[in-house]
Amino acid sequence: MPIEYDAVVVGSGPNGLAAAITLAREGWSVHVLEANATIGGAVRSANLTLPGFVHDIGSAIHPLGAGSPFFNSLPLTRFGLEWIQPEIALAHPLAGGRAASLYRNVDETAAELHDDSYGRLMRPLVYNWKNLADEVLQPLLHRPNHPLQLSRFGVTALCPASLLAKLFLRREESRALFAGMAAHSFLPLEALGSASFGLVLGMAGHAVGWPLPRGGSQAITEALAEYLRELGGTIELDRRIIDLKQLPRARVVLLDVTAWQFARMAGARLPSSYRSRLERFKHAPGVFKMDYALSAPIPWRAAACRRAGTVHVGGDLNEIAAGEREVAQGKHPECPFVLVAQQSLFDQTRAPNGKQTLWAYCHVPNGSTFDMSDRCERQIERFAPGFRDCIIARSCTAAADLEKTNANLVGGDINGGAANLVQLIARPILSATPYRTPLKGVYLCSSSTPPGGGVHGMCGYNAARAALRDHLSSRY
Ligand SMILES: Cc1cc2nc3c(=O)[nH]c(=O)nc-3n(C[C@H](O)[C@H](O)[C@H](O)COP(=O)(O)OP(=O)(O)OC[C@H]3O[C@@H](n4cnc5c(N)ncnc54)[C@H](O)[C@@H]3O)c2cc1C
Repeated sequence: MPIEYDAVVVGSGPNGLAAAITLAREGWSVHVLEANATIGGAVRSANLTLPGFVHDIGSAIHPLGAGSPFFNSLPLTRFGLEWIQPEIALAHPLAGGRAASLYRNVDETAAELHDDSYGRLMRPLVYNWKNLADEVLQPLLHRPNHPLQLSRFGVTALCPASLLAKLFLRREESRALFAGMAAHSFLPLEALGSASFGLVLGMAGHAVGWPLPRGGSQAITEALAEYLRELGGTIELDRRIIDLKQLPRARVVLLDVTAWQFARMAGARLPSSYRSRLERFKHAPGVFKMDYALSAPIPWRAAACRRAGTVHVGGDLNEIAAGEREVAQGKHPECPFVLVAQQSLFDQTRAPNGKQTLWAYCHVPNGSTFDMSDRCERQIERFAPGFRDCIIARSCTAAADLEKTNANLVGGDINGGAANLVQLIARPILSATPYRTPLKGVYLCSSSTPPGGGVHGMCGYNAARAALRDHLSSRY
């Protein structure tokens, strides 16, 4: 049978599109197959509540997108992508109407925190951001271009977040700010490696901001897809692949699917040792997702929260650590850590005049069906009395239901597998090229591969580069 395409990509999330673009830029014919009726995976926007309110179904805030070396090599602004930088990247309310704030400028942040220990922790990282981003956005097993900077970063990144915060940061405000960022790891803050998320998200916040795309996260997907089409790539919707046998004939196949799904798709064709490694790959906890239409901005007690794109709601370091510990133990915390984004404050295309949107989620055990909306609203109300009076409509999705909209969100895990220390190193296998699979010409390119979750396209880019290298050297 003749070859139909140089490359077939399964899945049109940011990693699938990144892989497709990387190959199409080399002149390859590329066809993307997407199970859903819309492209974008967890980077989509839709009208989930009332007419005129635009909600982000998945990702909302994009430090890794703005800092992605791959995205930054593409002409995405030509296809309508515009990053909006909120005045304050991140605010973290605390008792008594106080808040910790992350500004673009490290010195301003440290000065407001009255804590130069924060500045001392962040300044060298931000100064070396470009080099460190190049290093951390690829498989951990690689020959570093900046070994000294990477090893200095690695020593602190390996620490448990709570230990690092208590050792390095002096004030409650700085510790809470760091804890909130580290909690993006979905790990207990006592876990080794949990500090890495706090450090990466913090330095990205200072180096490139925590921006949101005008018009909704869908704008990222549309810009990627339009560029792919300009390069000659094609996308087919409503094509769910459950077995590799269904694929058109192609030189290479890139799979923007989770490790577990790949194990099922390939079945007995995979050597049993590799398959069992994929099957043993661990899920992260899930998320309970909430979207609101509001009659007014959230009445935060702390003024800084009214000027921030993202607000981390969960109190001080000890409270956040306790909530995340409970999630890791399979419990639903009474006082969850809630991640909030208030896009419409900075992007008027998101809501009718005078009205607002609110995007939020909290962590829950994987596969949870529990409704956390009351507990999350209570947490927000704690720091913004009167919040509930602003709600005109809400749409909530339990962790278990997220998977129905996107097969990659297994049990509500939004990152394609836990980011514990073992899986940061072996994602999904221990290799300098973990994208390559035992099947000739078949590559995994989803967030189950390095550098993992987040909208940056680097898993797709790295996997496609591996496919190109193998093809050129006729390894197969
Ligand atoms: C609620 C939520 C909030 C998030 N918030 C943020 C955030 O603010 N910032 C951030 O950077 N990241 C965020 N993320 C994470 C980020 O969106 C993901 O890490 C990222 O989208 C992963 O990209 P991907 O291409 O690997 O997979 P996905 O985006 O999940 O895309 C996978 C695609 O493959 C398709 N697919 C799967 N299986 C098949 C199949 N068998 N056949 C055909 N097609 C298939 C799916 O339908 C989907 O379109 C969030 C995610 C969620 C769900």
